Amino acid sequence: MEEKRTEISQLGEFGLIDRISESFELKNPSTVKGIGDDAAVMDAGDHYSLLSTDMLVEGIHFDLSYIPLAHLGYKSVAVNVSDIAAMNGKAEQIIVSIAISNRFSVQAIDELYKGIKTACESYRVDLVGGDTTSSSSGLIISVSVAGKVAKEKVAYRSGAKPGDIICVTGDLGAAFMGLQILEREKQVYLTDPNMQPNLQKYEYIVGRQLRPEARTDIISDLEEKGVKPSSMIDISDGLASELFHLVKNSGYGVRIFEDKVPIDKETFDTALEFNLDPITCALNGGEDYELLFTISQADFEKVKNHADIHMIGYMHETKSANVLITKQGNTVPLSAQGWNHFKP
Ligand code: ADP
Ligand code: MG
Repeated sequence: MEEKRTEISQLGEFGLIDRISESFELKNPSTVKGIGDDAAVMDAGDHYSLLSTDMLVEGIHFDLSYIPLAHLGYKSVAVNVSDIAAMNGKAEQIIVSIAISNRFSVQAIDELYKGIKTACESYRVDLVGGDTTSSSSGLIISVSVAGKVAKEKVAYRSGAKPGDIICVTGDLGAAFMGLQILEREKQVYLTDPNMQPNLQKYEYIVGRQLRPEARTDIISDLEEKGVKPSSMIDISDGLASELFHLVKNSGYGVRIFEDKVPIDKETFDTALEFNLDPITCALNGGEDYELLFTISQADFEKVKNHADIHMIGYMHETKSANVLITKQGNTVPLSAQGWNHFKP
């Protein structure tokens, strides 16, 4: 009998990845960690090698009517470097593959690579290869990154223990609100091309959407302070979604305090302007590329004065009890919306 067709939306992105992962087993002793973390981990003798990849597709991940190609190039590298940082590692090489159509000129590709070069310089990574092919119309950029980490320092999504402190870097929800502004201004422009977008008031959040940074600085700071996170992940899909990855992989629950979740004033004000709840934007907005990690209580003193590390909660014994404690002191269940690219 013919197998019934299942829609991808029924599984979702993570369900689909789990399904792929289940049908493969690791055969090489050098493969330490396969599918399921921010990067794969391989035994390279005296250290671990790290490998990760991320693809950006026009019309899905970016809109060229508002992202300059140089920023897009920078972002495509930064998001990959971020996945290596999330393993507590350092990125060293990238491979960049592009699919382009005749819509793009040589000058356009020059612009894209200008951004890629700037990112290579700021993160000290080498572009060592790639592939160039044609597409029917849209632009696709696929970047793979290799890095390394000392064996005793690797940080997985698993590893958090009850009582561990949950930390996030920077501030959250800004990239999402930046995207709302860009989308709004695009609509205004489409209805009246004489209207020039005024983005000045939203410079920070728009910048967070167009040109995110990987928090390699935090990795150095943690190393300097002698702190090894018990678990770590980068925030690409939204805080709530990433918290659930920590829950799933550690087997413990999370308790988050709303008033501790860092939200920039511009993000906060813009959320209100859009009639959105700022905390919802911080929990569910994607693409901040900040780091989410846990530390043991013994390391509290070492990070408590860091200006850009915020302690937002702690790990709890009970895996199913994932809650947000609101500003008013109410305890509400945490839910992850994340980004579902496969919504029907
Ligand atoms: P991130 O958000 O950190 O980039 P993803 O959610 O994209 O991570 O991926 C989670 C895990 O699933 C990673 O280990 C990634 O390598 C793996 N993965 C994603 N898509 C596929 C695929 N099509 N085949 C095999 N592994 C995949
Ligand atoms: Mg990641």
